[in-house]
Amino acid sequence: MPINENVRDVIESVHEAEVASGREIGTVKIIAVTKYRDSDFARNFPRNGLFDLAENRVDKLLEKQEALTDLTNLHWHLIGNLQRRKVRTIINSIDYFHALDSIQLAEEISKRAEHPIKCLLEVNISREDSKHGFSASNVLEAVRVISTLSNVEIIGLMAMAPIDADEHQLHQIFGATKKLQEEIKAMNLEHILCTELSMGMSRDYKIAIQEGATMVRIGSSFLED
Ligand SMILES: *Cc1c(COP(=O)(O)O)cnc(C)c1O
Repeated sequence: MPINENVRDVIESVHEAEVASGREIGTVKIIAVTKYRDSDFARNFPRNGLFDLAENRVDKLLEKQEALTDLTNLHWHLIGNLQRRKVRTIINSIDYFHALDSIQLAEEISKRAEHPIKCLLEVNISREDSKHGFSASNVLEAVRVISTLSNVEIIGLMAMAPIDADEHQLHQIFGATKKLQEEIKAMNLEHILCTELSMGMSRDYKIAIQEGATMVRIGSSFLED
């Protein structure tokens, strides 16, 4: 199937999930993950009304950005882990960073940023295997420290489910992330708005939307034929 049809299918399917969850249409932001293809492929998204583009690697994001400078209105999301030594090269070129996973990284971002950067804290509720993300218990302490950093704005939480999670586990993980988001929001800390939930990828975004996702990061669904 041509890419434009895939994009329209995904948009429609997200709208259906919104309706099925009693949410208003258009309240979940679709972030198009472009990492599997080149910048010409990425041009299909703004053409179809999707202006939020994501890459998981610093060099690839900068490459695409460079190739698409003729397009205005794009919002760039870095969704992959960021090494501290690379903060300086990328942080002032992006609109959102989804994988903030340590206090040290937050400090480096605040130091290098020329203005407050919208970040999401990566939380890791289930994946014992992963090195990345705050545990549910550590994140509450971390936000207190991060709230003292003037150039880091925590707009929400980001979560990824294990590849082999079944439907029941997905509901549990995304539901627990939602609870954590509300808990942090209720702390009412400076720079910690925490209203967004970036969760849901191609295989699990419908469940994530049911559990309150406000941003879904979709890549491979656009490639299916
Ligand atoms: C690649 C990637 C996605 C998109 O995953 P798909 O399964 O291709 O939709 C979402 N989030 C992160 C962090 C990724 O690296």
